[in-house]
Amino acid sequence: MSGQGEWKGHPGGAEGHLDRYGFETRAIHAGQPADPTTGAVVTPIYQTSTYAQEEVGRHRGYEYSRSANPTRTALQECLASLEGAAHGLAFASGLAAEDAVLRLLPPRVHAIIPDDAYGGTYRLVARVHAAAGLQFTPVALDDLGAVEEAWRPETALVWVETPSNPRLRVVDIAALSALARERGALCVVDNTFATPYLQQPLSLGAHIVVHSSTKYLGGHSDVVGGFLATGDSETAERLAFLQNAAGAVPGPFDCFLTLRGAKTLAVRMERHCDNAEAVAGMLSSHPAVAAVHYPGLPRHPGHDLACRQMRRFGGMVSFTLAGGEAAALEVARSTRLFTLAESLGAVESLIEHPARMTHASAAGTPLSVDPGLLRLSVGLEAAEDLLEDLSTALDRVRAQ
Ligand SMILES: *Cc1c(COP(=O)(O)O)cnc(C)c1O
Repeated sequence: MSGQGEWKGHPGGAEGHLDRYGFETRAIHAGQPADPTTGAVVTPIYQTSTYAQEEVGRHRGYEYSRSANPTRTALQECLASLEGAAHGLAFASGLAAEDAVLRLLPPRVHAIIPDDAYGGTYRLVARVHAAAGLQFTPVALDDLGAVEEAWRPETALVWVETPSNPRLRVVDIAALSALARERGALCVVDNTFATPYLQQPLSLGAHIVVHSSTKYLGGHSDVVGGFLATGDSETAERLAFLQNAAGAVPGPFDCFLTLRGAKTLAVRMERHCDNAEAVAGMLSSHPAVAAVHYPGLPRHPGHDLACRQMRRFGGMVSFTLAGGEAAALEVARSTRLFTLAESLGAVESLIEHPARMTHASAAGTPLSVDPGLLRLSVGLEAAEDLLEDLSTALDRVRAQ
């Protein structure tokens, strides 16, 4: 389905995904042979909406760019290869990708969602799909007993985010996938925080992987996009139908930027992890900080599970201030290298206040966030500069 391989002058499908090569090699080469018409080493931006046909119905695999575009094909093949998936589909945003997944469900079924889901995911479920009849229960997914308790005969979906946002709890993908499969439900994993470099949910049994490629996959805060990967051909066909029928597709330039970002995913993730580990360590010993949430800390409740299902622990760190919301707001305003902004996963470090920013729409719901919590997306700057920036901001609130 992401096919069109022949026209691109290389074998499509599993071979186009270069399965026998390592992750770093696939990031650079999967879906990206030299351009067959010019030899361009970098996949061109095919900025066209339509394609000439030789005669009615005879074309080279492309008819109209909502249905398929060569730059998007390259991106889809590359990201599918990174997730170890037979099929990949790119969307205009992470939420557009999520919307397509939720449209797979028949009417009036029940979904189990994380009780600390990404705010936009919660809004999409609670305000858009619930209005169309979807029932849902937010559950702490790191508690398998609570999942069993929330399960109903009509439960058709478990939506997993791990590490979760913003509390960075770790959820057992293999256990939830097994439970879902046993009971005929779908297990969908939002892999935005971990990326396929750190964690591959399909290999742990999940049915579908969701990404906001706006974050680590793109990696440079310059493009919004979404992605779905699955190993199941029938699911892929239904999702491809929705991608074309609803039309929330990324443009060729957005695909080019995301593909360019994905080439360096492995090296970026290693440095994100190094820097986040250093930041989590510093925060753990700072007197202004009441609690640090980072799966790489041995006392984190999900640490052992993270060691089993992740390669390393990621670039996201959150922490609670001893001085509560006032202190959190003061720190958020005081850092200089950590830019106060929503989003995450790019080269520059960001700080944000979930209760009033990314998770503001969750106020008054089961997903509301402690106002004393700050979330960091630890970037690729020099670690010592990041530590100094944060500790200077924290010293201000300690002195008050
Ligand atoms: C940003 C984000 C989304 C939504 O993606 P968009 O590209 O903003 O639509 C979904 N899940 C997670 C975990 C995110 O961080």
